[in-house]
Amino acid sequence: MKKVILTGDRPTGKLHLGHYVGSLKSRVMFQNTGNYDMYVFIADLQALTDNARNPEKIRNSLLEVALDYLAVGLDPNKITFFVQSQIPELTELTIHYMNLVTLARLKRNPTIKTEINERGFKEAVPVGFLTYPISQAADITAFKADLVPVGDDQLPLIEQCKEIVHTFNNLYGNILKEPEAVLADNKACTRLPGIDGKAKMSKSLNNCIYLSDTKEEVKNKVMSMYTDPNHIRVEDPGKIEGNTVFTYLDAFATDEHFKKYLPEYKNLDELKEHYQRGGLGDVKVKKFLLAIIEELLEPMRERRAYYKEHIDLVYNMLEEGSKKARKVAQNTLKEVRDAIGINYFDKKAN
Ligand code: ATP
Ligand code: MG
Repeated sequence: MKKVILTGDRPTGKLHLGHYVGSLKSRVMFQNTGNYDMYVFIADLQALTDNARNPEKIRNSLLEVALDYLAVGLDPNKITFFVQSQIPELTELTIHYMNLVTLARLKRNPTIKTEINERGFKEAVPVGFLTYPISQAADITAFKADLVPVGDDQLPLIEQCKEIVHTFNNLYGNILKEPEAVLADNKACTRLPGIDGKAKMSKSLNNCIYLSDTKEEVKNKVMSMYTDPNHIRVEDPGKIEGNTVFTYLDAFATDEHFKKYLPEYKNLDELKEHYQRGGLGDVKVKKFLLAIIEELLEPMRERRAYYKEHIDLVYNMLEEGSKKARKVAQNTLKEVRDAIGINYFDKKAN
């Protein structure tokens, strides 16, 4: 049997380069091997946990995220796309798992702690938000996922899911599958910083290059990127550490890119060495980065434009995928109900 891969994104806006290097890129890679059974879903219920008063944003972003999927080359003929809210079985699974997790454990989750802080919730955190790791465990286990490609902020959530799987299986029998997180192999990709140099490119911090940005927007953003504030004149020695442009080059540049756009250097090590020595200006490095990003984004813009003209195809893909995925979730929920013993009227069980 093929291994199962499952990943999702919150429809809270368009997807950005952080999503691409952290997760989308490996999804495309896994898809193209043909060796996996893949599910990609839009986590609208999770997005509502901190946007309940702004459902329009979620509704509009759903389409944007679906367009981004198609733009990066995810293929509905190879992947089942679904929408979380269209599969009520996921919600019932969540209810069962809620009994296996303590409030103290949820509050200790480092990702949740950071996110509560970022959103300024303090004690007024919505219950749904605090418990979203449980609903995420339902998403993962409903499809018996083996692999979950994610950015490193998701690791504590995968840990939480594994704990639920253990507790459930110990109590009720070996039903659920323990998932494994798959991180990008390049450290710059597991948490891409924002163009302002902040730790994480994130919609809420307004420091993103979106996959759907125009050429002009990308150019302005790259040219204004945070570098080494003490590297003022070209002759000055520059710092690589904490220099966002170099972190992005770590994430995106290959030796092929050097051959094509900057042949006077063999590779990134040589470029870094020159920058540290002095004599290399920020503008030259930024122009190189811009060329690399443009090479990546241009084909995405074309695919996005095509599907924007064919919105029916996009909704159809989500609807058909949701129906297909629902059947799988129904099977798992049946196993879970049987294991707990709440199948009172099932003749075969009596
Ligand atoms: P929100 O601010 O609404 O939480 P987000 O930008 O964090 O949005 P998510 O939908 O929460 O995006 O994350 C989707 C996936 O993308 C997750 O696997 C996450 O780890 C990954 N990801 C998000 N931002 C980055 C980043 N800057 N670098 C690497 N991976 C990222
Ligand atoms: Mg997030």
